[in-house]
Amino acid sequence: MTQLSAKSEDDPACSMGVEVTEERISEVRAYLRSKSKTGTKRYRGKIMSAQVRPYLFYDAAVSICSTCYRRVDAKIVFEEDKVFMLKRCAEHGFERVLIADDVEYYRRCREVFIKPPEMPAKYNTPIKYGCPYDCGLCPDHEQHSCLSLVEICDACNLSCPVCYAESGTHRTEYKSLEHVERMLDAIVANELKPDIVQVSGGEPTIHPQFFEILDAAKRRPIQHLMVNTNGIRIAQDDAFVERLAGYMPRFELYLQFDSLRREPLMQMRGADLRRVREKALEALNRYKISTTLVVTVERGVNDDELGALVDFALTQSCVRGITFQPVQQAGRTLGYDKALHRLTLTEVRRKILEQTANIRAEDLIPVPCHPDSLAMAYALKIDGKILPLTGLIPPEVLIDGGRNTIIYEQDPAIRDHIFKLFSTNHSPEGQASSLRELLCCMPKVLAPQGLTYENLFRVLIVQFIDAQSFDLRSIKKTCVHIAHPDGQRLIPFDTYNMFYRDGLEETRLGPLRERAMASV
Ligand code: SF4
Ligand code: SF4
Ligand SMILES: [Zn+2]
Repeated sequence: MTQLSAKSEDDPACSMGVEVTEERISEVRAYLRSKSKTGTKRYRGKIMSAQVRPYLFYDAAVSICSTCYRRVDAKIVFEEDKVFMLKRCAEHGFERVLIADDVEYYRRCREVFIKPPEMPAKYNTPIKYGCPYDCGLCPDHEQHSCLSLVEICDACNLSCPVCYAESGTHRTEYKSLEHVERMLDAIVANELKPDIVQVSGGEPTIHPQFFEILDAAKRRPIQHLMVNTNGIRIAQDDAFVERLAGYMPRFELYLQFDSLRREPLMQMRGADLRRVREKALEALNRYKISTTLVVTVERGVNDDELGALVDFALTQSCVRGITFQPVQQAGRTLGYDKALHRLTLTEVRRKILEQTANIRAEDLIPVPCHPDSLAMAYALKIDGKILPLTGLIPPEVLIDGGRNTIIYEQDPAIRDHIFKLFSTNHSPEGQASSLRELLCCMPKVLAPQGLTYENLFRVLIVQFIDAQSFDLRSIKKTCVHIAHPDGQRLIPFDTYNMFYRDGLEETRLGPLRERAMASV
């Protein structure tokens, strides 16, 4: 149970060592509602002064100003069942950012779903300027690379209005095979046996050496290889898909899939891609290529069809999961207004739960290695029905769980655990033990006899951190990292987009580093 700072038990704004219970939070809320226009209020039967803040102070944090990116002090407060970050830049003033719309879930992330960090084999940069100006990974980082990205080109066959990489048809850069190999080697040096490597772009499938790059990845001790794609080439080139199928197993496509309707696609992608998606999925089902649908979510654009997308994904035999990513304010964000379109992880979670009966609240839980940014539900698809797993697992099982990482991997032990799980002749302890092996950041999965990957389904919410929501406590736990083109470093994906992509290290980060050194 958490102790919040507070001066006196009767003072809701400041009490010391008071146990925070749901009852107490309700009392404080009732008290806040009771505030009168005269400024006199009652709390626990006592008359209170008018000088009481309209929130519960939960914690202090370090953030950055979303205009100048300087480090600033922040507070985390609870108000009206929401979590806000309050921060002030000396130059750009005050910011109040919604962090979560579910206090209980937020507290579970911070107080329950935590486990010892897992380290990479190697760090890449010294601690010098202070986080987040030292990426990376510097020795202060608190989680290894569960998923490592390699961007092989900036060119793309779409020019989406929202693209964190600012890729598009106007860009023509393709990294050479040798260059990509250096980046893959940097990942292997850090991770030894990287859990998941995702080949990304731009649009990687239009790279002239695409298959040589996949071969180079397959030659390395990478456990699971993914390709991030908008699906255009998949939809148009059957021979290409057939060749891709040769990379199964331990291979997966991350297929952009934002909407089943025309309008959101026009708004987010600048093109009606419905037919493209349909044809791509036909081909992927035909060649049985393991696929995750990836939905970028914007408020007022496609956030009303998250449930429909889950239900649709469940009907596709090649689809083993769906990932929802609220837009991160980074790169090209045409038509994106943070005040109108920004969405938090808990809002996306709430909408999924409201919009589909296939996932229950207890199933969609924080992922322990980075609970602020990742939530997951895991289930089996059997005879057209979904059987959720995560809701069956007590949190302490996850906390004490196995390898702290995001992975689908072939693992002979999993077969036994699945069989044990679905038999009746073992104890609850045995059952918990089986589930623990199935779930970490993502479940480790093996398709045992009679239960193929077509039976597996995962819902994942990934909220990348941007300059609005930046929180030092969270950024140090990020586990999605990107190989820097210099072939020397892995950098948290979130800070890469803020400080390290293209020329930002020089133009944005350089002055901030100078300033940090000047203040020492
Ligand atoms: S985000 Fe991680 S790698 Fe980057 S400076 Fe902070 S601790 Fe170091
Ligand atoms: S979001 Fe993806 S598909 Fe769209 S322009 Fe960027 S890289 Fe290309
Ligand atoms: Zn500022």
